[in-house]
Amino acid sequence: MQPKNSPAKPSLLIAFGGNALETPESSNRQRDEFFAARRSIREVAGLIKNGYGKIVLTHGNGPQVGRIFLQQELTKNEFPRQVTLDVCVADSQGRIGYILQNVFDSVCAELGVNKKCYAVITQAVVDPGDPAFQNPDKPIGVFYSAEDAERLARERGWVLREDAGRGYRRMVPSPKPLEIVEKNLFQNLLDQGFIVIGAGGGGIPVFRDASGGLSHGVEAVIDKDRASALLAGEIGIDCFVMLTAVDYAYLDYNSPRQSPIKSATAEEMETYMELGHFLEGSMKPKVESAIQFVRSGGKRAIIANLNDLLPALEGKTGTQIVPD
Ligand code: ADP
Ligand code: MG
Repeated sequence: MQPKNSPAKPSLLIAFGGNALETPESSNRQRDEFFAARRSIREVAGLIKNGYGKIVLTHGNGPQVGRIFLQQELTKNEFPRQVTLDVCVADSQGRIGYILQNVFDSVCAELGVNKKCYAVITQAVVDPGDPAFQNPDKPIGVFYSAEDAERLARERGWVLREDAGRGYRRMVPSPKPLEIVEKNLFQNLLDQGFIVIGAGGGGIPVFRDASGGLSHGVEAVIDKDRASALLAGEIGIDCFVMLTAVDYAYLDYNSPRQSPIKSATAEEMETYMELGHFLEGSMKPKVESAIQFVRSGGKRAIIANLNDLLPALEGKTGTQIVPD
């Protein structure tokens, strides 16, 4: 069947959470990551069959970038050149982009869907004056002893912090993205009818120099939902969907009073956020991103379970966030 390009269908940016590529703990086979991706990509191909044409896919990279960073730490005596974190993020975008692009082709062939997708290595501009650089609060990589932590801080200028009695971990800043460098490329590829994969792991953080050019990558990580909301706004996406491990954003999460938020305006979500209903580093950035998106011209943002993509788009489940 040929996909219909019905003008009635909204353009979409779908952000896959870390669970989209999750493989069983016991899995040692690279192929399993392809199988895991297959489930999510089938859902997307299903949407294309339903007439959705303009789709951007973004994804997290937490476990992948953690492993890339760890492999390098374990082989640092053999390969002493320190690969900086921006390059680790780029590596993770490459490997995840490849898996998604490969699986997309295979699933489309299987389902008779005539679409191509491309993965775009994506950089996001951040501000050197962002307060996150004064307060690195995102832990990455392995645990170190107090002596190793002291030495790494001295030798490499890292910030390390004790983590709940389990040892010391490297802490990196998580600044706000200001601009997606490749936004016009996303727009052009969409206009030409391609599905576009990008902003992996929130994008590679970079500084712009005074002349407006890009200076260099930065040792930081960006929340993928924040980068996704920014990109969706910049390229005029109608509907921004964040797929994750829970069915809704909840009030009083994990308490006996827990209740799902089925539909809310940006202002209502802001009130819930100020009352502390959403945890830092997980649900809070999703809610902030949803608010930012609908206030930058987006029509609807959705937070839903990874398995509920179509029903969530139909408004049957998930937290539906609309402009004020
Ligand atoms: P992702 O990889 O999808 O970004 P995160 O772990 O960053 O996943 O965010 C989703 C998680 O947020 C949920 O699995 C849940 O544990 C947590 N969470 C925190 N507060 C809430 C809330 N109020 N409602 C629902 N989930 C919440
Ligand atoms: Mg997250």
